[in-house]
Amino acid sequence: MTFIGKSASELADLIAKGDASSQEVTKEFFDRAEALNHKTFSYLHLNRHTAMAAAKLADDERAAGKSASALHGVPIAVKDVLTTTDAPTTSGSKILEGWMPQYDATVVRKLREARLPILGKTNMDEFAMGSSTEYSAYGPSKNPWDLERIPGGSGGGSSSAIAGHLAPLAIGSDTGGSIRFPAAVTGSVGAKPTYGAVSRYGAIALASSLDQIGPVTNTVLDAALLQDVIAGHDPHDSTSLPESLGSMADAVRKADFKGLKVGIVKQLSKDGFQEGVKELFEDTVAKLVAQGVEVVEVDCPSFEYAVAAYYLILPAEASSNLAKFDSVRFGLRVMPEGNPTIERVMAATREAGFGPEVKRRIILGTYALSSGYYDAYYGSAQKVRTLIQQDLAKAFSQVDVLITPTAPTTAFKIGEKVNDPLAMYLNDIATIPANLAGIPGISVPNGLAKEDGLPSGVQVLAPAKQDAQMYRVGALIEQLYVAEWGAPLIAKAPNLEVL
Ligand code: GLN
Repeated sequence: MTFIGKSASELADLIAKGDASSQEVTKEFFDRAEALNHKTFSYLHLNRHTAMAAAKLADDERAAGKSASALHGVPIAVKDVLTTTDAPTTSGSKILEGWMPQYDATVVRKLREARLPILGKTNMDEFAMGSSTEYSAYGPSKNPWDLERIPGGSGGGSSSAIAGHLAPLAIGSDTGGSIRFPAAVTGSVGAKPTYGAVSRYGAIALASSLDQIGPVTNTVLDAALLQDVIAGHDPHDSTSLPESLGSMADAVRKADFKGLKVGIVKQLSKDGFQEGVKELFEDTVAKLVAQGVEVVEVDCPSFEYAVAAYYLILPAEASSNLAKFDSVRFGLRVMPEGNPTIERVMAATREAGFGPEVKRRIILGTYALSSGYYDAYYGSAQKVRTLIQQDLAKAFSQVDVLITPTAPTTAFKIGEKVNDPLAMYLNDIATIPANLAGIPGISVPNGLAKEDGLPSGVQVLAPAKQDAQMYRVGALIEQLYVAEWGAPLIAKAPNLEVL
């Protein structure tokens, strides 16, 4: 029996019934990851020994009649933004090359306790800044649908691992779209939970008021099952929600169309989208209408300024968060020529350790926060953030969820936008509002674009703390497509072994 191509929930059922062992499943995915990583470069680090030891522990517990979670024994890939005590953690940066953290991120601890063997750490844009993984200090990941194209970013290691079946489950982080955008362009499912639903303890911070950890998977049910494993209050994270948001898997299993009201954002449904992406989005809307769902247009005028506000708030927070990489506490230390004063060692280390995009954002952020400019830039951006929250509150008073295309285009070619930061930033146009408002968003595959045959996604946004509503609608949309295709879109991804 091969386990490749099965969803995580199918694998969990096989393991729970004793029809497969975690060690068999983990070994097959590990072998495939090791054999194909040179093609997709999904992983920065793979560790057979720790993965297999975790799988054995899962099997031993099963044999003793114990089940630690609904995903007991199913292996997972973890974005290198999360600290792990048994694997180096780099956040895609040279400044942290070889750094071994002293503690596990809360999400990592929860994965271990739920008995999900960790296959390895996935590639990402440096410090999660980017939309393509081309800003990774270790080189770009490739999109399994077309190895000359980007798998999205910053979590392109995780999305390419899912689309290439180098892992049945993955973890990402989403500050402006880094889970949802990579999911859309690889035909995977990616969910950003409500801000605070999942602990950020041990997640290397990019912009603390925007960052959230979440699932990247084959199906909506898999994402829901994984969110159920990683969510929950954490006293180590002061922004962690005190309450539970309930079972996302239940929301998926009970999903029905009854009384559903869906909004289309006027500002995110017409201009600026690739023709094929727009067509697929219109098809999704038509499918919902055919089910008797009421679909209305809502107006979110402040969305026009979302990208501009984000690219002030994010660099401001990032410049402060990255100040700790100073050659003293973590990772790299570069000695300057001449007198090695502390300032000169720090300068030489940061000059050598940070890539161009990280430097660009540190400079932008410190400028935006400097006295005399604070009100004009950072202060104005914060006001826009409030206006976006108000637009969303008004929209959600009329509808249950909003839908938009997740990304303006399908996967672009490696090299196409790497030297054009503004073009790169515009990929986030539809995903950023959710981070600015702290609301949950999921990307669900909705077909292959007519121009290039590449995957596209539809994004479902729900009010804060209504992640269950987001999963419900995500699952309903997925059901409509699976009914048409006979399988999730990911099943159509090319088999890398025969490429
Ligand atoms: N593309 C966005 C950025 O570069 C997304 C980042 C993210 O979500 N981590 O900031």
